[in-house]
Amino acid sequence: MRGLDDIETVGVVGAGTMGNGIAQVAATAGYDVVMRDIETAYVENGFDSIESSLSRLAEKGELDEDPAAIRDRIAGTTDLADLADADLVVEAAVEDMAIKQDIFADLEDVVDAEAVLATNTSTLSITTIASATERPERVVGLHFMNPVPIMTGVEVVTGERTAEEAVAFAHAFAEALGKETWESDDKPGFVTNRILMPWINEGVRAYDEGVATKEDIDTGMKLGTNVPMGPLELADHIGLDVVLDASETLHEELGDRYKPAYLVKRKVDAGDLGKKTGRGFYEYD
Ligand code: NAD
Repeated sequence: MRGLDDIETVGVVGAGTMGNGIAQVAATAGYDVVMRDIETAYVENGFDSIESSLSRLAEKGELDEDPAAIRDRIAGTTDLADLADADLVVEAAVEDMAIKQDIFADLEDVVDAEAVLATNTSTLSITTIASATERPERVVGLHFMNPVPIMTGVEVVTGERTAEEAVAFAHAFAEALGKETWESDDKPGFVTNRILMPWINEGVRAYDEGVATKEDIDTGMKLGTNVPMGPLELADHIGLDVVLDASETLHEELGDRYKPAYLVKRKVDAGDLGKKTGRGFYEYD
């Protein structure tokens, strides 16, 4: 199995919020990256986000290199076969088990037998994703946080069959990107979302039940518990559809204490998904 010293090319599956962020930080660290999505427009949107993020970082003096040089290390594609040279693939497609299993099964036909396959899933089982492959020992959770270029933490998740080498590699790779890691067993929601999702849903319920205004709930949690964003603000930032998917998985796996708040579902049904659609609990330009 590949070790950190063998990595030259990183494949990223999905060019959305997380995929383009992962492609950006891998290219910033000097790796060649191939970023794949299902439609050209999604790949182009991914590049738009990368370019604006890199120019913001350059303005703040946080890049050692010209943003264009970093951008040029990333190739975009809609063809999974273009990931053939990847030594590591990080999957960041939609949070859907069937889609992720299909991607991992297809990846096995494309990449070398020694390549490591990582998933950025927020809540789905690494073990179940890996069961779609012939070599589950090389499948590991590499759970980046949003926004990837800014957040310093990465959660490494170990599936039932994940090999120790793959776990050690996941920590080392994240560290090579300038991140700090922690490890979670493959239990629903891992460390972060198991604790975060009920916190967000409780914030939404408190708002829906008239405990306080949305601003006062967010301010109360920020000033009262020293977190940078309150639950409603954070839900908008993550994407309400992502919150709903994660909450539904936890509810299914862990029971009623994880039931998603009714209002999250109603807003997703209305298409108000947070920052990305311009409206969630708050409105955005
Ligand atoms: P997103 O909706 O912004 O992007 C997902 C992308 O995957 C879309 O562009 C979609 O077209 C693409 N896609 C769908 N099927 C594909 C396929 N077969 N091949 C390639 N691309 C495909 O979602 P996101 O927020 O970037 O989330 C991606 C993953 O990261 C999910 O598993 C999510 O749970 C996880 N995650 C999200 C966050 C967050 O805050 N948004 C944080 C950590 C982890």
